[in-house]
Amino acid sequence: MSVGRREISDEVRREDPELASLIEAEEIRQRTTLQLIASENFASRAVMDASGTVLTNKYSEGYPGKRYYGGNGVIDQVEQLAIDRLKLLFGAEHANVQPHSGANANAAVYFALLNPGDTVVAMRLDQGGHLTHGSPVNFSGKLYRFAGYGVTPRGDGGERLDLDALARLAQQERPKLIVVGATAYPRTIEIDPIRSIADEVGALVLFDAAHVAGLIAGGQYPNPLFMRDGRRGADVVTFTTHKTLRGPRGGAIVCHEDLAAKIDKALFPGFQGGPIENTIAAKAVAFREALQPSFAEYQRNVVLNAQRLAGALSSHGFRLVSGGTDTHLLLVDLQGFDPDLSGKEAQEVLDRAGITCNRNQIPEDPRSPFVTSGLRFGTPAVTTTGMGPSEMDAIGELIARTLLKRSDASEVERIRAQVAELTASFPPPADR
Ligand SMILES: *Cc1c(COP(=O)(O)O)cnc(C)c1O
Repeated sequence: MSVGRREISDEVRREDPELASLIEAEEIRQRTTLQLIASENFASRAVMDASGTVLTNKYSEGYPGKRYYGGNGVIDQVEQLAIDRLKLLFGAEHANVQPHSGANANAAVYFALLNPGDTVVAMRLDQGGHLTHGSPVNFSGKLYRFAGYGVTPRGDGGERLDLDALARLAQQERPKLIVVGATAYPRTIEIDPIRSIADEVGALVLFDAAHVAGLIAGGQYPNPLFMRDGRRGADVVTFTTHKTLRGPRGGAIVCHEDLAAKIDKALFPGFQGGPIENTIAAKAVAFREALQPSFAEYQRNVVLNAQRLAGALSSHGFRLVSGGTDTHLLLVDLQGFDPDLSGKEAQEVLDRAGITCNRNQIPEDPRSPFVTSGLRFGTPAVTTTGMGPSEMDAIGELIARTLLKRSDASEVERIRAQVAELTASFPPPADR
């Protein structure tokens, strides 16, 4: 394998060696350390190639067939291809592939369905929710009145979305919108009970599938657009294309036909300018990949690996929030393992050992969001490299050893070398 050769074009090397060496350094980091951040993945070479094309040169404000500039005949076909594939993937009546990110997708939905000051209920941030679900430092919390629901108390079968509390909150607040979906919640969320709660108070439902879009596409998580009996579930589903879905960095929206015009208008001209058509082309590639049978198998392995890693970590004395996972991510409570060890310190020492993850608050966390008592791990990226059950066992052991021996610098060095050895056998797909 030639180091960095396939990652950086000869042109970048020639024109901008300073930047080329940074890209190469990042390529080496990704290839020689363990990528366990739950929101990350390795996009295919085809996805990256499509995003690095002449499509970046074109202005195409508007939508296929309704553009503000000339010369969009080909671009229209590119975007329509992405739209058609996405509709097929989710069985959706309508798709918008233009959001630049998951946050923008959520913003567009809020602009489409709400007025400033309207009430929304969403999962609290400290219980697994996302910044765009009403954080006071985010536009969502500044423009709208958010009230938060959370998870049930710790214990057998606990730390699950608290549907009773959500129902009570909805009755009390009479929100215009209920937001479901999370950034650090390891369990499946069924749309059926949420639809009933929303119908009782006349609320709309947004399912934010940023994390689980790939699992949905691969049949490992229920499609929130529909209830089990096929009736309408969530009114709108937003997601990112770069997490489990393994596409380029970006966002997308799917919804039922009656909301299509409102959603499209809110995104453009309401919120964004020109779409990023080179990224949209890469989304089309990713949606095609996600339609293949091999993608369902990949997502199955993502979940199996997450469950295996959860088992390995609990065998080393870590408590898992909610006792395990149904998805691609796990949340580890460090308090039982070592009450002195914060998420911040754990993340830092794991980084030195070449194990990349992020600290995360756990439900009822006594520490601040900046320090935390938890770690979040995910298996989408390592599964893309082909790792399986025995590697998950090895990773569990490496994590435990790093945290136990965290004050022994030479032991951390030895673990770093073991990580390099392990990752050398499982290069990212674009590197093979
Ligand atoms: C990641 C995430 C987002 C935001 O996606 P960006 O592309 O980073 O803007 C929104 N909602 C949830 C639940 C997420 O996990």
